[in-house]
Amino acid sequence: TGTNMDGGEHVIWVEEITFTGKWLSYTEVLSIIISVWLGSALILLLITVIRLQKGFRKNRKLVKELGEINAALNLHSKEMERQAKTDPLTGSWNRAGVNESLLEWQTLVRQDRMDFSIIFCDIDHFKKVNDTHGHSVGDLVIIEIASLLRSQTRNQDLVVRWGGEEFVLLCPHSNLDAATTLAYKLKSTFANQSWPESLNITCSFGVSQMKPTENIEQLLKRADKALYEAKDEGRN
Ligand code: GH3
Ligand code: MG
Ligand code: MG
Repeated sequence: TGTNMDGGEHVIWVEEITFTGKWLSYTEVLSIIISVWLGSALILLLITVIRLQKGFRKNRKLVKELGEINAALNLHSKEMERQAKTDPLTGSWNRAGVNESLLEWQTLVRQDRMDFSIIFCDIDHFKKVNDTHGHSVGDLVIIEIASLLRSQTRNQDLVVRWGGEEFVLLCPHSNLDAATTLAYKLKSTFANQSWPESLNITCSFGVSQMKPTENIEQLLKRADKALYEAKDEGRN
């Protein structure tokens, strides 16, 4: 109370209470509270939406970047696979490239569902071409042989560079007769071809049709044996 009063029971009279300032009614106070509350909620909502939008944009960018990386990796792995399965000089298949097809066709032959023949094709006296005209002319001849083999066979036939100057044609849906006819057709194609350095290039062929009881190795061995018979009997 501001004066030195002794402790004890006292009575205090309040004579006047004065409120100054703008008097707010009960509804006004309520509406201010509700407005502030609603406003805060709206601001919070807006902040959340902006944050989400930012996150969404970031995610979308990330997804796009990941997609691009993925596509590049896919392309790279496809290219690696292609390189592993093809011969760089001729673009023909190499042995690794046709393993799967060979196994698939072996299965079909065993089930008696398909004829399958192969043709070994080896350039005659190729060493002489290299020795006389040089390795690069030899390379041109190999490239030309591969190209002719591809153009003279059906899409389903596979041209495989088996070794240096040796190719194997894999001919699904072909019996021995059909494959032999193809080998003779190739022989005459090579005879009518104009070769680099006016060379006269011939090949010898060995043909075999897969028996249901044999495996790929045995099939290759028989064709190889036939090829060497052709070489022995005067080539071409
Ligand atoms: P044959 O008629 O008995 O098959 O005789 P050939 O001379 O063709 O056979 P040989 O196996 O004696 O020689 C093959 C030659 O092929 C030897 C090798 O230098 C050559 N050769 C292998 N690969 C390539 C290649 O990629 N490019 C070139 N230019 N020559 C190659
Ligand atoms: Mg040869
Ligand atoms: Mg050879």
